[in-house]
Amino acid sequence: MMKVNQLAKHQNHNQSSTATQKISTYLTLIVLIVMALAVAALLLAITAYATDVVAAGVLAIIGLIALVLSGFMLYQFRRQTVQLKIEIPKVMTTIECTKCGGKTIREFQRGDYVYKELEPCQKCPETKQMITAIYKEVKEKEKTYEV
Ligand SMILES: [Zn+2]
Repeated sequence: MMKVNQLAKHQNHNQSSTATQKISTYLTLIVLIVMALAVAALLLAITAYATDVVAAGVLAIIGLIALVLSGFMLYQFRRQTVQLKIEIPKVMTTIECTKCGGKTIREFQRGDYVYKELEPCQKCPETKQMITAIYKEVKEKEKTYEV
């Protein structure tokens, strides 16, 4: 259970989603290795069938179970990843002019950070605009959700 702070003015806003993606990539890799081993076991079972029927049967059963399990896990991960992608809220950046107070809100761009100075304001060309807030855009019903 992870609570998402509605107006977190931090730069490490998307750390949790990146971590989740890393974990799922890691797990997918493990599942693929298990899958490869399962296929190897099945191939061994085919070659062993001529000499030792019992060993071939055991290998075939192990291979099939591993294949079914890894396939099922892969399917579950895919579904979770899709759900996560949908639930990730947009990150917004608020830009303010320090002189006239004019606010602009746009989507977060790489390299944005709070107090970063940007191009001058349209009304007052001598004053630079500044990033005053970076936050996740959270819908009312999605204040908390499970990861
Ligand atoms: Zn201004």
